[in-house]
Amino acid sequence: MKFIDEYADPELVKKLVHLIQKDLEDISRPVNLMEVCGTHTMSIGRSGIRSIVPDKLKLLSGPGCPVCVTPSGYISASIELAERKEVLITTFGDMVRVPNSSGDTLGRFPKEKVRIVYSPLEAITIAMENPDKEVVFLGVGFETTAPVIAQTIKVAVENKLSNFTCLSANKIIPPALKALADNPLSKIDGFILPGHVSIILGKDSYADLGIRGVVSGFEPLDILTGIHMLIRQIRKGVVEVENAYSRAVTDKGNELMQKVMDEVFEIVDTPWRGLGVIPATGLGIRKKYSDYDAEKKFKVKYPEENEPAGCRCGEILQGICIPTDCPLFGNKCLPDNPIGPCMVSSEGACSAYYKYERN
Ligand code: SF4
Repeated sequence: MKFIDEYADPELVKKLVHLIQKDLEDISRPVNLMEVCGTHTMSIGRSGIRSIVPDKLKLLSGPGCPVCVTPSGYISASIELAERKEVLITTFGDMVRVPNSSGDTLGRFPKEKVRIVYSPLEAITIAMENPDKEVVFLGVGFETTAPVIAQTIKVAVENKLSNFTCLSANKIIPPALKALADNPLSKIDGFILPGHVSIILGKDSYADLGIRGVVSGFEPLDILTGIHMLIRQIRKGVVEVENAYSRAVTDKGNELMQKVMDEVFEIVDTPWRGLGVIPATGLGIRKKYSDYDAEKKFKVKYPEENEPAGCRCGEILQGICIPTDCPLFGNKCLPDNPIGPCMVSSEGACSAYYKYERN
């Protein structure tokens, strides 16, 4: 147990690992669990959880990093927008490093043209300060960021801003989990469900999916507790959603945030990078707010693009393989020179493996 000193309560860790081991002994096959949140991916890597659980248990990283699942065609469309003289792009930082299928990135533009913001609301300020520019915010994220982006669009409406739009690639998690659970190639026995997303959606949002999951927090002990609860379900043959993060996640979630999101966005089919189109997992901007929809205003077309040659992100995000199975991992594809999106964000599976587990 080489990383055990880093845990808040090593004795409790030992007990949990023992319980996991005991329950696994009663299961006659290997078990695959998937974490669906980039923060979980980082925490598992940093704390060395993979090295202290039995080999029979595989922990796989799912599509929980928004940058990783944003399609190459969206990156190309954003680059095309940035090339327009009148457009000023605003975006979260990781997006400028994500390559499209031909290796082009938003990072090649000067910072006056592609501005990194820490909150979508900063894009409103930039639009107010630059009335001669069309300010486009790249709306990329899950239920954790979508309500803030929705609120930003409402602020633009209230301020009668005519030079602010959002190019929405926002996505929702629950139906994507159902698609993964139903994918015979993935072979997922249960999900460590995302803590942040669940704070917004609530535990009940997973109830009708028929998936096995445990909502977990982000401390190593939270994750080990979630793993143990999942193994216990598998041993008993139970398929249900439990909550191991009740200090932050309620049954109903944050209904105010859900309302804002629902007011501005509608559910649409959307492509996930490496996974293809998953029905009813995208958040498109409602017609009522179409003046603030960059896709409509600039008649954006998303080219269909293949993944960079050799990149296995799509399979990694489905739990079919792990980062070290990719022949480019750690040699041609590095955090400073990412070839695929999973190596870009610190929450990406390849990046987390490179940082914490490559040896
Ligand atoms: S190591 Fe790089 S090329 Fe390979 S799957 Fe990960 S991101 Fe793609």
